[in-house]
Amino acid sequence: MLRIVRSMYKTVKSCVRHCGSYSEFFEYSIGLRQGETISPLMFSLFMEDLELSLQDHVGMGLELDELSIVLLLFADDMVLIGKTPEELQHSIDLLHEYCGKWGMEVNTKKTKIVVFRKRGPVLQNEKWTYNEHNIEIVNDFVYLGIVFNYTGSFVVNNQTLSGKGLKAMNILLRNVRKNDIPPKYLGQLFDAFVSSTLNYACEVWGFSKSKELERIHLKFLKAVLGVKTSTSNAGVYGEMGRYPLYIQRYVRIIKYWGKLLNTDNCIMKELYISSVNDANNGKHNWTSRLKSLLYSFGFGNTWENQLTINHQLFVIIFRQRLIDCFVQKWKGDIEVSTVMPFYKFIQPEFIFSNYLSIVRNVYLRKCLTRIRLGTHGLRVETGRYGRNRIERNQRYCPLCETQDIEDSYHFIIVCPALTQIRNKYIARYYRVRPSVFKFTSLLATCNRKTILNLCKYLTLNNIYLINHT
Ligand SMILES: [Zn+2]
Repeated sequence: MLRIVRSMYKTVKSCVRHCGSYSEFFEYSIGLRQGETISPLMFSLFMEDLELSLQDHVGMGLELDELSIVLLLFADDMVLIGKTPEELQHSIDLLHEYCGKWGMEVNTKKTKIVVFRKRGPVLQNEKWTYNEHNIEIVNDFVYLGIVFNYTGSFVVNNQTLSGKGLKAMNILLRNVRKNDIPPKYLGQLFDAFVSSTLNYACEVWGFSKSKELERIHLKFLKAVLGVKTSTSNAGVYGEMGRYPLYIQRYVRIIKYWGKLLNTDNCIMKELYISSVNDANNGKHNWTSRLKSLLYSFGFGNTWENQLTINHQLFVIIFRQRLIDCFVQKWKGDIEVSTVMPFYKFIQPEFIFSNYLSIVRNVYLRKCLTRIRLGTHGLRVETGRYGRNRIERNQRYCPLCETQDIEDSYHFIIVCPALTQIRNKYIARYYRVRPSVFKFTSLLATCNRKTILNLCKYLTLNNIYLINHT
């Protein structure tokens, strides 16, 4: 084995492939073979003694009980940690010495310093050099895909994630439109391609409900449903049966907590224990936020008895509690909604709406969604703003003489001006002696034929639905 590796580095030559053609072979004597599967292992073996040579006296680095952490390593990424400017400079000097001895180089252009502090600029004496080159001091640094800000806040990280997520969402939307994918699967696609970006490493930072990230989720759902951005969020969640993204985040935090509680890794264990102590002494850290999260959903008891709980079971219970709380609030929102006064009757349960699967024609489907969510072009809605603004009780139907307010109820089962076309598409039961009950049961029906006919009725009169919007 050793001989194979040795000869691989002694006799194998390399070449560069570019646009399908290969360059001349050449030899190289530094670094590891690119893309070779044992390269990472060889690198780790090579770097194995670095930690020892950096730790030349007791008390260096972060001290956790009996452990001290002077550096973090991930592949060829390295983080040096120091409590004081002098200590960090000393570590950098030792690194330089080590690299000189083993023929390695540090890319000083990619090397940065972050001085973690509460606020204010860095102090005069806070300067560091590597081999007499000044190292740049920055406020934010991307480590393993997360933006670490000098204050310890993840606001910049969330901005970066929302930028990336928005890009991913736009690409997904473009592909969805091209391929006409049913809405039922779009939630899953969103989770695979966009949520994974938006919630990247949320175990560390995901305690906030983050309106900024949720906005992208809602934007996607609204684009899929074909409704305006001003449409009620509660209605959009309800139609798609989708929960906000924070629910996934909180569950992932709880799962990660379970990992910390059961870990064999002594560093993780020590870190967790010391952060629990800090949190109990009133310090604000990851653990204190976890504790507030648990208390805010009524799981203070679980926090107090954390060593005895069945974590797998707890994750399920916790997730259900998040969902229950969300759905309860959702029910409250649709109960008081003035824009969608009928929605509480047509969507009494929080589940994916069946009509979205039944109506395959996108245009027909969107007309029905707009009626359900109250974002149509009927007077009751258009009279709310702008030049057309009129008092609610005067938003009469312009088609007939009834002086009824032109809302979806009037439009679909009452307006005498539309009788002829109504007789063709709406079953007799609904239109004879119309009532709100009949109207809402028409909108809530799962009967395929009734739904498709209703959609046709709406689109044939579409001038009133789309024109004003
Ligand atoms: Zn009318």
